[in-house]
This record gives sequence, structure tokens and C-alpha cells, in this order.
Amino acid sequence: MTTPEVDVAIVGCGPVGGVLAALLGRRGHTVAVVEGHPAPYALPRAVHFDHEVARLLQGLGLGEALGAISEPGSEYEWRNGAGQVLLRFGGRPVGPSGWPDSNMFWQPALERRIEAAATAQRTVEVRRGVSVVDLDQDDDGVTLGLRAADGTEADLRAGWVVGCDGAGSTVRDLVDAGVTDLGFFYDWLIVDVVLDEPRVFDPINVQVCEPTRPTTVVSGGPGRRRWEFMRLPHETVEELDDEGRAWALLEPWDVTPGDATLERHAVYRFQARWADRWRTGRVLLAGDAAHQMPPFAGQGWPRPPPSGPSPSRPCPASPRA
Ligand SMILES: Cc1cc2nc3c(=O)[nH]c(=O)nc-3n(C[C@H](O)[C@H](O)[C@H](O)COP(=O)(O)OP(=O)(O)OC[C@H]3O[C@@H](n4cnc5c(N)ncnc54)[C@H](O)[C@@H]3O)c2cc1C
Repeated sequence: MTTPEVDVAIVGCGPVGGVLAALLGRRGHTVAVVEGHPAPYALPRAVHFDHEVARLLQGLGLGEALGAISEPGSEYEWRNGAGQVLLRFGGRPVGPSGWPDSNMFWQPALERRIEAAATAQRTVEVRRGVSVVDLDQDDDGVTLGLRAADGTEADLRAGWVVGCDGAGSTVRDLVDAGVTDLGFFYDWLIVDVVLDEPRVFDPINVQVCEPTRPTTVVSGGPGRRRWEFMRLPHETVEELDDEGRAWALLEPWDVTPGDATLERHAVYRFQARWADRWRTGRVLLAGDAAHQMPPFAGQGWPRPPPSGPSPSRPCPASPRA
């Protein structure tokens, strides 16, 4: 078999693939990252990372940047529908890793910086607009079948392959790793908003445990807010994934087209499942390809010094009835 062109091929340049490429590059390994999307994804999914992820990002030289794109998620309050507090817990201003326990951030800005940290390593190359469609391995390496957007096909030979290609992982399927699914899944409408005027959100993160509309209200990083509304049994995804519906759900929170910009709305299905085998010979799985959990614990991602003074306009503690 042919000699590997690179030590490691990483499939997928999401946060996990990007961080892994930067870490391997800093240790002198040759790395090719193959990413199907021609450009970095411009919209956020995750909004929270913990102190350990912050330390990991600091290790990539991103410590300074974290201050500009994240803010401490100092408190998380769970309320019932009447606004009574059921539970309130706080991220310490400084956790065990020297960063706040909890950090709220804007994913596109962080992903751009991660990719730049990876490509700054002379041994790391990111090939965008190229998808992995096939995989064959032997004792000495792995051959990946690649297909570009224009249909051109090519092979890439690597010593090792890490599938960081997300929840619908092709690599996972190609090595037939199997999936255990707990069957715990719910659809949520994700709404990202930029308010025209800053407001005070105290506490910064809130979970409304109201069965008639479970709702998450959290920071989306400095200057941004995220609302998440669970789909109810009588609603279809199409009904919920609608701009007018998003504004109607935001209205009780005093957020209207007159004072905010809707960056996006999308329905995601949160799932609880994992790949049965995370390593098959020279092929490994990482990130969502290996494991998915509902994101309410905000675990899996990359925190800064406290941001400036609190903004001035208050926000209702609960939606108006
Ligand atoms: C609404 C929402 C909110 C969330 N909130 C949080 C949170 O607050 N905190 C947290 O830690 N997590 C959160 N998560 C989960 C978090 O976003 C994921 O765990 C994380 O994005 C997984 O990163 P990844 O790199 O493994 O996969 P992805 O981000 O899915 O990236 C996979 C990449 O692989 C590429 N790819 C796929 N197939 C191929 C192929 N065949 N060839 C080449 N490239 C391919 C894709 O284009 C993509 O760029 C949330 C998720 C959602 C949906």
C-alpha cells in the first residue's frame, strides 16, 4: 500500500475537527482536514463552553481572543411557569482551570479563530468544499475517497483518520460503528437575536420549566441573546420554524421587530445517542460523530474576564402572561 501523505486526516472542520487539527499541528504532525462546506458555517449552534474547554483554547493561543467573543455565564436559574425559582446555580468567576466555570459565546467568531489557529501551523492543511465518500484501511494506513463540489474525485492516504464529521457522520457509517440511541429526542425552535439597545438580563441564563412551553433564555455571547422554544405535541416543525411564529414567541419577552434583529430561526432535534465503537483499527470518531446529548448542560465546547458594565434596559423576569 502507498505511504501515507499525512500522519492524520481529519474529516470535518467543525469545532472538534478544528481544535484537533491545531493540537496535532502544534505537536509537529502532518494533518489534512477535509471539510465539505466551502466556507465556515456562519450561524451559531452552541452558545456555552466550560472552564476546561477555555483552558484548551488558551493552549491554542486563543486566550486573549476569548475576552472579545464570550462573557461569563455567571448564573443559571430554573423557574416554573409562575416565575417561581426552582433552582439557581452559579458559575464561579474563576473555576478550577483558571477560567469562569461557564462562558457564553458566539460560535462563528470562535470557529474562525480555531481554523486560523490550525492553519497557522505549517504542517496543517484545510481542504474545503471536499467531502469524504469512501474509506478503506489496511495495517499501514487509511485511504479516503474524496469528492469535490464539481464532482472531481481523488484519494487521500493517511496514517490515521479521525471522523469529526458531526451527528450524521459518514465516517461512522463507513466503519459500521453502530449507534445506540436512547430514543430521547425533542424538537426545539432556536431563535438568535441582536437587540438594538443593550438590556440587563439578571440572571443571564434562564430555563422556564413550564410544560405548556418549555423555554430557554440565554446569552448568545456579548450583545446577543438566544431563545429556545420546545415544539409542543400539536405543532409541526413547519409551523414552528417560521419567522412570524418566532416573533410571536418573542413578543411576551418584550422583543419585537421594532427593537431587535432576528439573526436566524431554525428547528433542531436534540438527541441522546452514541457510537458503539469509537475506534476501528486506524479510524477514530470524535465530537458529535461519537456522542450526542441534549445541549442544556452546554458541555463539549470552548471563557474570558468579566465584560464591561451592565447594560441599562431591564428585561422582564418572565414572559408577560
Ligand atoms: C441548537 C444547538 C445548541 C447547542 N448548544 C450547545 C452548547 O451551548 N454547548 C455545547 O457544548 N454544545 C452545544 N451544542 C452541541 C454542539 O454544537 C456540538 O456538540 C458541536 O458543534 C459538535 O462539533 P463537531 O465538530 O463534532 O461537529 P459539527 O459542528 O457538526 O461539525 C461537523 C463538520 O463535518 C463536516 N462534514 C460532515 N460530513 C462530512 C463529510 N462526509 N466530508 C467532509 N466534511 C463533512 C460538516 O460540514 C461540519 O462542518 C448545541 C447544538 C445545537 C444544535
